[in-house]
Amino acid sequence: MLGLDASGKTTVLYRLKLGEIVTTIPTIGFNVETIEVGGLRLTAWDMSGGCSKQPLPLWRHYLPGAEGVIFIVDSNDRDRMPEAAEELDFFLREEELRGVPVLVLANKQDLPNALPAGEVARRLGLVRPPAAGEQGAGGENKDKSAVEWLGARDA
Ligand code: GDP
Repeated sequence: MLGLDASGKTTVLYRLKLGEIVTTIPTIGFNVETIEVGGLRLTAWDMSGGCSKQPLPLWRHYLPGAEGVIFIVDSNDRDRMPEAAEELDFFLREEELRGVPVLVLANKQDLPNALPAGEVARRLGLVRPPAAGEQGAGGENKDKSAVEWLGARDA
C-alpha cells in the first residue's frame, strides 16, 4: 500500500480489520507499517519526501514478490495531487511491479470538497486522451475501474 503521508493508509489498514499493526518504523522520509494475518502480509509505506528522489531506496526491499499494489490518494488535497501523480508514475515504471495489479483508491470522498474519482484519475495522469470522435475525459470513461484506467494509460 503506497501513498503520500496523511493520504489515509493507516486508516484503511484499520478499516480492513486485518489485525493489529505489528511494526512501525519511522525513519526520515520512510515510514513503514506491516500487518500480518492469515498468511497475508500487507505493508504500507509513506512516499512523502519523494520515493523517486531518495538516495537510499529502502522501499525497493518491499517490491519483490508483491502481488498487488493499493495506491491511496487524498482526494481532498488538491495541492499535493501533482506530488501524488509523480510518485505513482514513478512506481508504475518500476520493473519489479511489471504485471502487478494496481488499485488506485481515491480516499476521503466523504469530505465536501473532495475531487470525484474521475477527476482524481485525470490529475494522476491515468486518463487516456480522447481519440477522434470520442467524448473527452469525464465522458464515457468516468465509470471505468482503476485497473482499466491504468490499462488505458498504457495503451
Ligand atoms: P497515513 O499517513 O497515510 O497513514 O494517513 P492516516 O491514516 O494517518 O490519515 C491521515 C488523516 O486523514 C487522519 O486524520 C485520518 O483520520 C484522516 N482520514 C483518513 N481517511 C479518511 C477519510 O476517508 N475521510 C476523512 N474525512 N478523513 C480521513
